Amino acid sequence: MTPVLAVREASRTYPGEVRALRAVSLSIQDSEMVGIVGPSGSGKSTLLQLMGTLDKPTSGRIELRGNDVAKLSDRALSSLRSRWIGFVFQQFFLSDGVSAVDNVATGLLYAGVPRGKRRARALSALDRVGLGHRAGHLPSELSGGERQRVAIARAMVNEPAILLADEPTGNLDTENGGAILNLLAGLSADGTTIVIITHDREIAAGLPRRIELLDGTLRVDTGTPPGVFR
Ligand code: ADP
Repeated sequence: MTPVLAVREASRTYPGEVRALRAVSLSIQDSEMVGIVGPSGSGKSTLLQLMGTLDKPTSGRIELRGNDVAKLSDRALSSLRSRWIGFVFQQFFLSDGVSAVDNVATGLLYAGVPRGKRRARALSALDRVGLGHRAGHLPSELSGGERQRVAIARAMVNEPAILLADEPTGNLDTENGGAILNLLAGLSADGTTIVIITHDREIAAGLPRRIELLDGTLRVDTGTPPGVFR
């Protein structure tokens, strides 16, 4: 099947001749859960930004289900991004003073979902991450692990094909981090493609596929595990 996400010989050079990514190629199927690992400065965030269509490669291409995203207008691209890709970050980025359900509903602001339907969709996304009973709580009233669940619900409320997570467990203790990984594994089993940047070797070792970067070069790709093609 055409991969949901493909990176074809993608390089990214920043001003000052910083070669952050060098001809990286990989393709990812629906429902995969992939870890991106490598030392600080190896190009992990740059790769995630390209995959998320937030940045463009200096050369090479990014394809979503076989479509070269460089061929889209900015407007078409942001519409595609909002439907296809969800983002989760280490720092949660929730709005203080706004309830969990309203934080999640902001994930639908650009998706053309009528206001009246946003809340119901947000509530069901919160249920999916096990936080339906905390819908009215403010971020300050939630634990770190719960805040990250709200952020994941916000990223998933639009049912994207791909969830990109940059160190999603980086601010959590082992137990809460483990719970977040289990949640992501469940989303992957339900069909969402999950890509996670992690510094944590133990987490990476537990993922079905691992991609290792060093100095902007792809050093290891353990590949799509058998059984993913359905
Ligand atoms: P990682 O996520 O693995 O720490 P990054 O992708 O953030 O690595 O960075 C890769 C390299 O690109 C590093 O040398 C970093 O300093 C450089 N870099 C990242 N972003 C920029 C930028 N906006 N401008 C210039 N250099 C950058």
